[in-house]
This record gives sequence, structure tokens and C-alpha cells, in this order.
Amino acid sequence: MEQPPLHHRQDTCESPSQQNCLSVAAARQLLGGAIQSVGESESVSLKDSLGRIVAATLLAPFNVPPYDNSAMDGYAVRGADLPAAAQTRLAIIGTALAGAPFTDEVKAGQCVRIMTGGVMPRGSDTVIMQEQAECNNDVITIGAGHRVGQYVRHAAEDLAAGQAVLMTGKRITPADMGLLASLGIDNISVSRRPRVAFFSTGDELRASGVSLDEGTIYDSNRNALYGLLLNIGVEPLDLGIVRDDRDTLRKALTAAAAQADAVITTGGVSVGDADFVRDTLVALGEVHFWKVGIKPGRPFAFGRIAQAWFFGLPGNPVSTMVTYYQFVQPALRQMMGEQIHSPLQFKVPCSTTLKKTPGRMEFQRGILETDVKGETVVRSTGGQGSNILRSMSDANCFIILPAECGDVPVGTLVDVQPFAGL
Ligand code: AMP
Ligand code: MG
Repeated sequence: MEQPPLHHRQDTCESPSQQNCLSVAAARQLLGGAIQSVGESESVSLKDSLGRIVAATLLAPFNVPPYDNSAMDGYAVRGADLPAAAQTRLAIIGTALAGAPFTDEVKAGQCVRIMTGGVMPRGSDTVIMQEQAECNNDVITIGAGHRVGQYVRHAAEDLAAGQAVLMTGKRITPADMGLLASLGIDNISVSRRPRVAFFSTGDELRASGVSLDEGTIYDSNRNALYGLLLNIGVEPLDLGIVRDDRDTLRKALTAAAAQADAVITTGGVSVGDADFVRDTLVALGEVHFWKVGIKPGRPFAFGRIAQAWFFGLPGNPVSTMVTYYQFVQPALRQMMGEQIHSPLQFKVPCSTTLKKTPGRMEFQRGILETDVKGETVVRSTGGQGSNILRSMSDANCFIILPAECGDVPVGTLVDVQPFAGL
């Protein structure tokens, strides 16, 4: 596979100004232009298709529903028999249940008792709701005011034969599973799930189950990442914690790249003394370090190691999640072959003050909710430090504040991105 060029940027972002910092949009665009889908497909059963990506546009093999049928419990009648005024009487000549059609024809002056989903008998074109008919000894009496064709669901109303049902790149939802079942489809061609290897870097990190000595902390990023990857349906490959040691790191990266379509690391991409990831990456592959003009999450590395895409995320747990959501998730979805759209974003008033220092665009954590007046508002989760992972746990959205803005007073319209729409 030919490798697309990666735009090289020697970023310096030492001053608080936005000089030499990539914007979020520019970073996403660079990623979007570089990443390709894994381009392989496999067949899965309908039951296993939830969240998978359709590999080839699927056409309806026949009409759904296949025949005109009743939308109500009542009586199938001929439109021509409907009284313009006063009343008319029609003889009941049979019954059409869902699954048990009436096979004769309905002639003038006749009707058929019909249930919701029952096939419209030949000759009939209109349904009278049972509440609007008076029934006595196999004869119904109906009044005026009905419309010819009422309460009939037409053949092909849901899907017409030959119509595209699910397009290439569609992520299969529960509704899609129902739709496929309505067409009698039990196997579907979907894109192969990319394998995504990931590990944490840092001498201070310990896995759960190990006791903490002084100066050590538990590794939260790897577990958050595991959840994030499961969420979008890639195949996660947890490679543990890697120490801040050049040789170990080089081996870990090489091994990760050899068994995965993408590699994600957290930590070590800044310029601290123990940040070896940077140097090691430069030696191993085509990797570029971006300073993206956002808080949290400024340092971010992207590139290729052997055949795998590489994403190096900053170590602070909130920075890891913000950069994952904003840059890595769309890239992985693109690798999955998914047709992706811009994240859902809209403005709502904030119901708490939002503290901010002008300088960088911020992705603060917020809670979108309905207030006592029934209006949708957003409030802050509180402390916004990039180490405060609880802020991500409490939140259901990002509040995006532009670089130049300072403290935001209550009632101001702010941009929000619900996590569910990312
Ligand atoms: P780094 O990006 O390696 O300089 O790390 C920045 C901060 O994030 C440091 O305080 C690290 O201890 C912390 N950190 C890095 N990786 C993790 C992790 N996997 N879990 C929790 N905290 C981390
Ligand atoms: Mg570190």
C-alpha cells in the first residue's frame, strides 16, 4: 500500500500565543487526508452485526411490506361503498387476520373483518376502524366522513425492491438490525475490525492489583482507552505498561506495530527529561509532533511505524481522553471504513460560571441537562485540571470555549459537543 505523505511540522508553541499551533480543524483535516480504511471485509451474522460497518451498499431484494395491509383493527371495504351522507350497511363475508389472509374478492355491499397487518382483500381499498362501525349479525353500519384509502399501509411503503437500504460505511444500529431482518437477511458483509494495540508509558505507573510504593500511581489511561476502543468496536490489544527506557520502548513499539493496524501510546510525548517516546519514535518511523492549540491536550504525535498508524497521546488522563475523542476516534472510525460526520455541536446557555484564562481553546467538561423551566442548559463539572479524571466521569459533553475568551458568566450561550454525538 502506498503511504500518503504526512505533513511535517516543526512546532514550537512555547509562548501562550497560538503561533505555530495547529487548530483542531486543521489537525482533523490532516488526519482525515492521511488515514485509509483497512479495506478488508468479512461476513457476520445479523446477531453479531451491531456497531459493525457496512462494507457494501445493500439493496432491498423485495418490497417491504410485500402487500397492502391494514393499519387498524376494523373492516376492509370498497371506497366506492362509502356513504357521502347518512349511513350504509355492508355484509361481513369473512375475516383477514395478520398471517391468515382472506382469499376471496370483496364485492359491492360487502366487507371483511380485518386486523392490523392483515392483507387487504382483493376489491377492498379502505379500512373502517372498528370503533367507527356498528356490528350486528354479520352486518356493519357505517356513517359518512370516511376517506377512500384510509388506514391502509401500502406495499413498498417502508422499502421498495432495489432501493438502497444500508449504504457502505453505515454503522449498524438496532433499527438497522430490524430492517435487515425485515428483508430476511441473516448475514451481512462488514469491514474487518482494525486491531489497535495500546500501552501506557511511565516509570511511575502500576497496574491494578500491585501495591503502590511512594511516588507511584495506578495506570488509569490504559483502562479508559480500553473502554473507548470497545465503544467504537475496534479490536483492542492491551500491551500493558512500558517503562521510560529507550530500549524497552523501542522494542514495545516495534512489537506493537507488527501485530496491529494502529498503535496508541499515552505519556512521554512532551519534552520532559524522561520523555523518551519522542526520540524513539523519530528513530523508528515517520512520526510528527503536533502542538494542537487546545487545552487540555496540546502535545500529540501522529505518524506511522512500519505498517501501523501511530497516535501518541499526552499522559494526563483528561488530555488522553480529549485528544482521543477529538483526533484518534475519528481516525479509527475512518480506518473502520465508516462514513463519518462532524461531531454534533450546538449552543446552549451555561448555568454556572465557566472559569477560563484567555490563550488556548478549551475543551471543558460539562453536564447537559434540563433545568426546572424545561430548558436545556449546561453546567461545569467543577475543577478542570487535566489530571482530574472525575471531570470526564461526571460529564456528558465537552464545552468548547474559544481561545480568546476569558471567564464566562452564567447565561452565556456556549458551544457543547455531547459525548454521544462524537
Ligand atoms: P507525561 O505525558 O508522561 O509527561 O505524563 C503527564 C502526567 O500524566 C504525569 O503526571 C503522569 O504521571 C500522568 N500519567 C501519565 N500516564 C498516566 C496513566 N497511564 N495513568 C495515569 N496518569 C498518567
Ligand atoms: Mg511520563
